[in-house]
Amino acid sequence: MEKELSVVIPVFNEEESIRELYEKLSESLVKLKKSYEIIFIDDGSSDNSLNVMKSLCKKNKDIKIYSFRKNLGKSYAFMVGFKKANGEYIATLDADLQDDPKSIKILYEKLVNRKYDLVAGWRRNRRDNIIKNISSSVFNKVVSVIFNLKIHDLNCGLKVYKKEVAKELKLYGGMHRFIPILVNEMGYKVGESEITHYPRKYGKSKYKITKIITDVPDLITIYFLTKYTRRPLHFFGKIGSALFLIGLLTLAYLSYIHFLGESIGRRPLLFLGILLVTLGIQVVFTGLLADLIVNTNMKENNNYPIKYESKPNNKKV
Ligand code: UDP
Ligand code: MG
Repeated sequence: MEKELSVVIPVFNEEESIRELYEKLSESLVKLKKSYEIIFIDDGSSDNSLNVMKSLCKKNKDIKIYSFRKNLGKSYAFMVGFKKANGEYIATLDADLQDDPKSIKILYEKLVNRKYDLVAGWRRNRRDNIIKNISSSVFNKVVSVIFNLKIHDLNCGLKVYKKEVAKELKLYGGMHRFIPILVNEMGYKVGESEITHYPRKYGKSKYKITKIITDVPDLITIYFLTKYTRRPLHFFGKIGSALFLIGLLTLAYLSYIHFLGESIGRRPLLFLGILLVTLGIQVVFTGLLADLIVNTNMKENNNYPIKYESKPNNKKV
């Protein structure tokens, strides 16, 4: 049965928080006066989290649980949650009590009243450790400049989506950290709203500082996926032709001095020139292959970003 709001909660070893979270959440959902469902995604917890969720599920028929056999990460947890959600709107919330469930109402109202497709929480006064706070604010600034989206906090666990937006997202790896970017690039309207953030009360953060290292490759993937998925040859073509041209100029220079009588056979520049020309051609051909794949898939894939479609008019004139 369709609900007005689905709340998707990824859970990975959060046994101490879940009950308190549920109490706070259900209180704020009652105040929201919308029909709701709560979807817990147990991301392979090895503690007692699943049992705590099961006991809550017995009390409230609007709770659903999906439990993974092993830890798959937050992106997968979101994907499954979005797939299973029946709500007209979908909210996500971390299980660790760091974001106040009361804020769902503020985000939800902003989304509906201001006609956004996604409203992300902004932890303006973030209560995590200093290294995490600084690295994340630098990261947020860099990404928002690269993608030209004015958002302060990309990776807040608290977000509210229109159903179709969440269901259209394809997330894996570290992609949940870029959701506002992905949604904006899909052509939807993204907004943000300040929320109150608390220090972690129970358990430990699941994210280590080393995730900063994976942020850069993730950023490259996102950049490529959002800008060039439909035209990969433009990406590979630019890089490949640049390499090819530099190589060609190098070889032209060497040929010139060769004809002036200088010996070029042992010059490192010769090898560099040959390498660049070969590499350039390879890169361009990789782009051609990628274009071929896109072209082949296009015939089967009719997933276009259509915002409005007129209904056929059956009235007789
Ligand atoms: N989480 C998850 N799978 C993971 C890591 C985290 O489902 O592999 C959940 C975790 O239980 C919590 C939320 O994602 O509900 C945010 O995690 P955490 O608080 O550790 O991240 P932080 O707030 O420190 O960035
Ligand atoms: Mg947290």
